[in-house]
Amino acid sequence: MFLEPHFKGQRSGWIEVICGSMFSGKTEELIRRLKRAKIANQKVEIFHPKIDTRYGDSKVVSHDANYILSTPIDHSSQLLDLTDGVNVVGVDEAQFFDEELVENVQKLALRGIRVIVAGLDMDFRGQPFGPMPQLLAVAEYITKVHAICQHCGNLATHSYRLTADDKQVVLGEKDRYEARCRTCYHMGNILDLRTEPSVKKTAPK
Ligand code: ZN
Repeated sequence: MFLEPHFKGQRSGWIEVICGSMFSGKTEELIRRLKRAKIANQKVEIFHPKIDTRYGDSKVVSHDANYILSTPIDHSSQLLDLTDGVNVVGVDEAQFFDEELVENVQKLALRGIRVIVAGLDMDFRGQPFGPMPQLLAVAEYITKVHAICQHCGNLATHSYRLTADDKQVVLGEKDRYEARCRTCYHMGNILDLRTEPSVKKTAPK
């Protein structure tokens, strides 16, 4: 489990990244860290991209309804204006943000802010997603969380899309995605190649 670092002398800001597949508990881990900071009387703000409308406008909702209110923003540059006097900034669904998120969270860290970023590390194709690979490169601390493969029970690292849509961003939960291990993810893709795209995938159980 991630424990907050101790500081000697002047406190500086830093960046933490929580990454993983769908259903891996990224948002739950983000909320856990933010709640701990709140209990310690630190000023906490959370942001998510406006594109993510799954739970309405104003909150980050984890899958167990253990949520914290969050502010939707259009562009990562708004983080710089909305975090005066804030000690800890949470950013959820970071993969949907613009590439400038990488620069902007570094600016926040230089202002002495602890920034905790959560997001999908890979898209449904298994490719690095949006600004996440750059964030992983510049972060002080990285936590990769795992789901459980819905087919074999091993640790899952991939988000397998159940529908034939090939756009990178398709919002959905268990109606559209399964968490799969590397092997089951690739087996699924191989089977897909043998059938028509329109009938290639089945609805989840
Ligand atoms: Zn598996």
